[in-house]
Amino acid sequence: MKLSKLAKTLKPSATLAITAKAKELKAQGIDVIGFGAGEPDFDTPDNIKEYAKESIDLGFTKYTAAGGTNELKEAIIKRTKLDYNLEYKKNEILVGSGAKHVLYNLFQVLVDNDDEVLIPSPYWVSYPEQVKIAGGKPVILEGLQESGFKISKKQIETAITNRTKILVLNYPANPTGITYNRQELEGFAEVALKNNLVIITDEIYDKILYKDEKHTSFPQLGSDVKEKTILVNGVSKTYSMTGWRIGYAAGNSEVISAMNNLSGQSTSNPTSISQKAAIEAFRGPQDAVQNMLKEFKERRDYITSALNEINGIDCVLPEGAFYVFPNISSYFGKEHKGKKITNSIAISDFLLDVAKVAVVPGVEFGSDNHIRVSYATSMSDIKEGMKRIKESLAIL
Ligand code: PMP
Ligand code: GLU
Repeated sequence: MKLSKLAKTLKPSATLAITAKAKELKAQGIDVIGFGAGEPDFDTPDNIKEYAKESIDLGFTKYTAAGGTNELKEAIIKRTKLDYNLEYKKNEILVGSGAKHVLYNLFQVLVDNDDEVLIPSPYWVSYPEQVKIAGGKPVILEGLQESGFKISKKQIETAITNRTKILVLNYPANPTGITYNRQELEGFAEVALKNNLVIITDEIYDKILYKDEKHTSFPQLGSDVKEKTILVNGVSKTYSMTGWRIGYAAGNSEVISAMNNLSGQSTSNPTSISQKAAIEAFRGPQDAVQNMLKEFKERRDYITSALNEINGIDCVLPEGAFYVFPNISSYFGKEHKGKKITNSIAISDFLLDVAKVAVVPGVEFGSDNHIRVSYATSMSDIKEGMKRIKESLAIL
């Protein structure tokens, strides 16, 4: 069958593909340790599950408004006010089927042919692809390891052309775990405002932050910044609710209304029961979040030092999220079974074949010298996985 031009350009999401591959190997009885998945390994907290079950029994199983129920929008508004002292109205909130869906809709309603979208690297796999699907041009701002994987205000300034429309920010970041402080963000805001850019800020890891300094949400930088910013967040990471598929956008009502129309013509509402579960997540006790954070921090400390102890690996200590992004390029040029390891895909294949450990090649995030290792898995798996990586690399 003849596919559309768009279909021919689509590529699979590497993060999802590797997670699926690791699960498949495990199902075949192969003892694979999965460091691919970008999802917390904790169960969704009980109060959230119970609330969802009650909603089913109460018959909350029908269509809702395409952009989410008023009740959920109110819960999001309250949480955002409580956490960041930010005020939004209901017509400035859109709920979608996960932050990924919300971001997809955002690019669809904001990007016209050849509009340029600035994306700092290393980036989450889906930003450039979603921009391309919308007909736009991703422009990558390279965050080098020497600069702690951070971009500078100057880099944004230099990349701006008369086609630049959007600046995408994501902090704490996937895949590096780095974040920005208020002063750095103020620099970005100044350039963005001066050049009339829209800022899409993906703050889905805002609660998974290990340093004492509080997360600054981009729209907190001032009412002029807030007007030009669309904030994206969701329940997947904070409340370990990846499968429930609830994310949201907060910002300019015209943009939200356009996204609402798009959802209305494509997906309709996000699952009714999941919306109820998200209400409980935002309104209910928040201690499960703190418990997960404590566990993630222990794992982060362990995995970063274990990786840095391996000969030839250089790993920056992440400040947030649940990924490490070690540099493994010193192994490039080595041979295994007569085949030269030349890049992050080859080393990831080697680790899967020999160490039985699944990681994501850095090239998928825009950096071929690295691999992404997710520590959203048990400490015992992390310890075993690190041992396997060390032993397998020693044969090269
Ligand atoms: N943004 C980033 C940076 C992510 O890592 C993810 C991971 N899935 C998402 C958005 C999407 O999350 P979800 O669709 O599960 O809300
Ligand atoms: N965001 C997670 C990751 O980076 C989940 C998979 C995805 O949605 O891409 O692994």
